[in-house]
Amino acid sequence: MESPAQTKGASIKSPRELEAMRRAGQVVARMIAAMKLALEPGMTTKDLDTVAAKELKRQGAKPAFLGYMGFPATICTSVNEEIVHGIPGDRVLKEGDLIKLDVGAIVDGLYGDSAVTLPVGQVSDEALKLIDATKGSLDAAIAVVKSGNRLGDIGAAVQEYAESRGYGVVREYVGHGIGRKLHEEPQVPNYGVAGRGALLHTGMVIAVEPMVNIGTWRTQALEDGWTVVTADGQLSAHFEHTMAISEEGAEILTLLKD
Ligand code: MG
Ligand code: MG
Repeated sequence: MESPAQTKGASIKSPRELEAMRRAGQVVARMIAAMKLALEPGMTTKDLDTVAAKELKRQGAKPAFLGYMGFPATICTSVNEEIVHGIPGDRVLKEGDLIKLDVGAIVDGLYGDSAVTLPVGQVSDEALKLIDATKGSLDAAIAVVKSGNRLGDIGAAVQEYAESRGYGVVREYVGHGIGRKLHEEPQVPNYGVAGRGALLHTGMVIAVEPMVNIGTWRTQALEDGWTVVTADGQLSAHFEHTMAISEEGAEILTLLKD
């Protein structure tokens, strides 16, 4: 058993910091809502980035991803076999595609981070099932996020949910602590053993983000230095929420409130 001291790197947020994170979470949720409304076949991934950037600006928040280690856009757009970190560009979305939108914002120096997978027009049953299972695996994780539980409970919940449905769970990319930086301690893997790993404390804020593949969990990075794809070229889905931990459970900061 790993020691609780492993959560030492995780910062405990003050009430004031939590309040800013609630606002950052709502900015992110509204950016996603704006893109959901705009999404249709024939758009480019860059068009979606423009919608997100406009909404971010309208709310007076700052982009979390633009310039992060040189990332060139406001959001990440990953299509079909692309898992995460795709760069918005000239790619035209067509009926049947799966688009993953990963979105971040900064309010008063504090971060929010969330991702969704959306169908473009009509998609295959196989794709819809994958979306449902990935969302379900995030919900299963949220159900065990609570002060006193452990990181392994989160990973085990995601893994059990997705693998029992025959899917592969990505290992090389994980969730994370979040606050004054986009990525803080601890790492939050989407696999693990229940009852193991660092303790979850009240006041910790984490981003849980299962990436689930139809086939192998193995990944490959493309030559652009950013885009990560499935090693077998099959579809992948991704959902993410930023959540604050308390005795009662998880407060989902990136869930749209109004
Ligand atoms: Mg994200
Ligand atoms: Mg994240």
